[in-house]
Amino acid sequence: MKKSVLVLASLGLTGALMLTGCGKSDDVLVVGTNASFPPFEYVGGASGDEIMGFDIDLARQIAKDAGKTLKVENMNFDSLIVALNAGKVDFIASGMTITPERQASVNFSEPYYEATQMVLVNKDNNSINSLDDLKDKHIAVQLGSTGDIMAKSYSQQVTAFNSGFEAVMELKNAKVDLVLFDSEPAISFLEKNPQLKMVELDFSPEFYGFAVAKDKVELLNSINTSLSTMKQNGGYDAIVNKHMK
Ligand code: GLN
Repeated sequence: MKKSVLVLASLGLTGALMLTGCGKSDDVLVVGTNASFPPFEYVGGASGDEIMGFDIDLARQIAKDAGKTLKVENMNFDSLIVALNAGKVDFIASGMTITPERQASVNFSEPYYEATQMVLVNKDNNSINSLDDLKDKHIAVQLGSTGDIMAKSYSQQVTAFNSGFEAVMELKNAKVDLVLFDSEPAISFLEKNPQLKMVELDFSPEFYGFAVAKDKVELLNSINTSLSTMKQNGGYDAIVNKHMK
């Protein structure tokens, strides 16, 4: 008798821990993001502290299709894959480019957006007209981004920041020559900073995917199913039209 009470009590405790541990429960899907990548993810809304954007709308629909509520965890871009593989988040939606290096540690969904790198400079800077011109320049990037990796292949002087926003601040303060960043957030930063301009160079296309831990095959399948349904029923286009100009 005593023993079964104990078993029940400990089961209750385990259940409670499962519900509260990492803020996760069975009806919640936790997405990891770095909300300084507009229009894909940024902090805004009426309250000023809501995490919103293109990726978040797609992620919300993915959660809805799985019968779950979406919970968003905001962190440094550089911490996302670690958090995923530690089970702190269920998937990553953060404008993350599918690369072979990342594919060694996570699985990606089907690509959901095509992007490219873009150069931002101060308006009076006319010294960058080709990829070759990058080699003697001081480049600011976001830590752990494809821009970071690429910049290092062009120049010895690369400074990495925790967000694209901080990289842009450095450029505005003329501490670096340029920022190398993904095209859509670069355009978005440009709108708020009229003293900057954009230079398009011959960078290869990149494809964003949602990342899932290697052993979460079911979740990966359900993300891919949601994506293809959204592409067929107009849901994807509506989210594109809502966020992209
Ligand atoms: N697409 C880039 C990458 O995957 C940048 C993403 C980001 O900064 N959110 O590295």
